[in-house]
Amino acid sequence: MSDYWSDVINGTRSLVIGMNITVRELFKPVITEQYPHFVPVMTPRFRGHIELIGNEETGLPNCVVCGMCQRACPSSCITVAGEKPEGSKKKVLTKYILDFTKCSLCGSCVESCNFNAIKFSHDYNLASTRKEDYIFDLVKRLEEQS
Ligand code: SF4
Ligand code: SF4
Repeated sequence: MSDYWSDVINGTRSLVIGMNITVRELFKPVITEQYPHFVPVMTPRFRGHIELIGNEETGLPNCVVCGMCQRACPSSCITVAGEKPEGSKKKVLTKYILDFTKCSLCGSCVESCNFNAIKFSHDYNLASTRKEDYIFDLVKRLEEQS
């Protein structure tokens, strides 16, 4: 068989195989998510930056300002501060700053907290060219959420 006819047969076979795949894919359910028109729901184990957990009734942070998360963080991302109101034995959280530019999402902070006071958020679409946009005031964030 001449090279010409051999090329025609191979080309036709390749075209049929290609069209077969195309038609098969055409009738499969669409799995592409049309982001940003549809916002995907993150899985429960997704790790966004950390955030404070508020008391279900009062909305106030569960944090008792023990400082364990701050000490556990290998990247020094966390700054926690609190104060004792007059007549109270417990500290009240006044500042919880997260420097997300240094966070590796290792989870040491969440694991170290014995008061169910921090968790991973489901925020994933963070984009900015400004470093300041990744310094999060988590007390303010919790107030805005409640
Ligand atoms: S978030 Fe948890 S570990 Fe961190 S200071 Fe508050 S109570 Fe302590
Ligand atoms: S996830 Fe890891 S790196 Fe990020 S703030 Fe917590 S301890 Fe630090």
